[in-house]
Amino acid sequence: MGTVGAGQSTTGRHRVVVVGGGFGGLNVTRALAGADVEVTLVDRSNHHLFQPLLYQVATGILPPGLIAPALRSISKRQRNARVLLADVQDLDLDRRLVGARAPDGRLLELPYDTLVVAAGATHSYFGKDHFAEYAPGMKTIEDARYVRDAILAKFEMAEIATDPAERAEWLTFVVVGAGPTGVELAGQIAELAHTVLPRDYRSADTRQARIILLEGAGAVLPPFAPKLQAYTQKRLEEMGVEVRLNTLAVDMDHQSITVKGPDGLETIRTGSRFWAAGVQASPLARMLAGHAGVETDRAGRVPVSADCTVAGHPEVFAIGDMVALDKLPGVAQPAIQEGKYVGRVIKDRLAGRQTPPFRYFDKGTMATIGYRSAVADAFGVKVIGFPAYVMWVFIHVLYLVGWGNRLGTLYTWARALWLSHTRGNRIIAFETAHQEVTEGRAPAGRPPTILPRSTRPPAPDAEETIPGAPR
Ligand SMILES: Cc1cc2nc3c(=O)[nH]c(=O)nc-3n(C[C@H](O)[C@H](O)[C@H](O)COP(=O)(O)OP(=O)(O)OC[C@H]3O[C@@H](n4cnc5c(N)ncnc54)[C@H](O)[C@@H]3O)c2cc1C
Repeated sequence: MGTVGAGQSTTGRHRVVVVGGGFGGLNVTRALAGADVEVTLVDRSNHHLFQPLLYQVATGILPPGLIAPALRSISKRQRNARVLLADVQDLDLDRRLVGARAPDGRLLELPYDTLVVAAGATHSYFGKDHFAEYAPGMKTIEDARYVRDAILAKFEMAEIATDPAERAEWLTFVVVGAGPTGVELAGQIAELAHTVLPRDYRSADTRQARIILLEGAGAVLPPFAPKLQAYTQKRLEEMGVEVRLNTLAVDMDHQSITVKGPDGLETIRTGSRFWAAGVQASPLARMLAGHAGVETDRAGRVPVSADCTVAGHPEVFAIGDMVALDKLPGVAQPAIQEGKYVGRVIKDRLAGRQTPPFRYFDKGTMATIGYRSAVADAFGVKVIGFPAYVMWVFIHVLYLVGWGNRLGTLYTWARALWLSHTRGNRIIAFETAHQEVTEGRAPAGRPPTILPRSTRPPAPDAEETIPGAPR
């Protein structure tokens, strides 16, 4: 492994390497602003992603840039921090080196005095990894753009199809998992189909779309209070979402999904399946656990001590979605608070001070369902409907990074949701649509190459020309 632009400290200052510029890593880096350290923030994407609003990119409301500012731009005024775009592949705790691969394939060695690993989580298909080919999840900007293309391409196909059965298939969308992401995605697809798109299509009646939300548990939003669950299900159903509880996805291919529910097995014909059902920690959690001689939990998370360090390595911190600490949920607040805390520990150590153990301050949870409706549970108070929606808007805008992005998001929402009821980010190209409706997404995450074939045989009496007459 070569050491490229990343060798010994030129200033003799304490070297902190932070892996991951998400909620955890960014907050450690920021907390070290002005400290007598050299921070290297290494991430395999060049941006800080505000994952809670990914579903809005996936449904054409927000453009990606508003929720994914460049890490380099965020930290441009922090003189003691630099940002590297590289994929971390090795953590050598004995030699205190992080091994990372640069975009051109070269290997970088990043020496550290203190290491903070905040690499987040990825999708879990509960052992059925082949589902990834048929049911994409949403963790990255690329995922969200892919989901958006996949949704929009199906409406285009519905406009072209002449056979009612085929059109119904194109207009069937199945979301697996009714946690906050699944609820938000299903709600927004329903709004697209039933409110936004009907006037834009001539042959397809997008109001005929079926949006099916599957949940293995007995209620939507499983960790939320029953009152909030009941409201969410009622609102979803009012918006035209079919909610199916106690129902699992047991099989799928490019044209269908088979589900097992209270009434037994059923195969639903659809080209659109989206996965919002499970997460597992970054593989770096397992690597850290192996070095420290500890077991990961069922979600692959590495256990950490009350000061967020890994067993036997006081110089190695791990935070956020990839760690198991006090049964904290895998949401943004633990990662943010742990990031700030670790920054403080590093500064205290350099100053010879003790830091008390990490204590989590629970600010509550919330989820939005659709236009002007949300649920929130904060400080013991349960709020539903429009007041919860206002809270949701306020909190999400507050936590976006940068005033430009906050104002841009408010403006885009005002235009898309409150004034015109349209979506400004609906660009798809023929190639993307072709790949989506013929092949789906390659397992590696890259679209497959275009193959000159069509998905399905035409219906026996289908016209082969595009119907021109408006309805
Ligand atoms: C669709 C979606 C919706 C969500 N909605 C909410 C919500 O409404 N409210 C809420 O509180 N939470 C929500 N969450 C959860 C929240 O986003 C996470 O809990 C939070 O992002 C965790 O922060 P983190 O720093 O641990 O990881 P992340 O924010 O995921 O950051 C991890 C970073 O590490 C980088 N990385 C990973 N592996 C490597 C590697 N090998 N080399 C280099 N870099 C690497 C990644 O590129 C990423 O930038 C949502 C998550 C998703 C996916």
